Parts: sequence; C-alpha cells; structure tokens
Amino acid sequence: MKKLPSRTCMGCNTQKLKKELIRIVKNKEGKLSIDRTGKMPGRGAYICDNQECLKKAINSKRLEKCFETQIDESIYKELENTINKECNID
Ligand SMILES: [Zn+2]
Repeated sequence: MKKLPSRTCMGCNTQKLKKELIRIVKNKEGKLSIDRTGKMPGRGAYICDNQECLKKAINSKRLEKCFETQIDESIYKELENTINKECNID
C-alpha cells in the first residue's frame, strides 16, 4: 500500500492529500507567501481549496498561531483570490 502525503487543513481540521491543499509558507526572514508549487523552503501550513475553510482559519487565527506571527491582510486577500470561488450563487 503506498502512502500519499497528507496534511491537515487549518480551517476544517480534516486530513487531505497534500496536492489538494494550498500551502502557505513562512521563510527564514519571517515573510509569508502562498506556495503554489509546494516546494518553497520554510515552515508550511495547509488549507483546503475552498472559501469556507479560509474563513474558518481566519476567524480562529490558526494561521497566526501556527506561524507565531501577525498575518498581513494582503496575505488573506491573496488566499481569497487563489482559492476556488465555486460557491457563487447567481
Ligand atoms: Zn478544510
């Protein structure tokens, strides 16, 4: 049985395959960025590709706790734009 790498979402706490999640990474300088390749060096946190989980993560401040730093509004905005907007209602 092969084991695919999985990580826990900071929003819903569910384990998912790494490739299904969006990675946020903190580099040596303490700068946060969204890692679309999954290969950037640094400490990473993961979130599902949906707005619901992003909202949960923002409200619970779990990303702040995880990275032990303040998270800039622009990072959240960027995440919001990165994440699928599949739930749009006409
Ligand atoms: Zn999630």
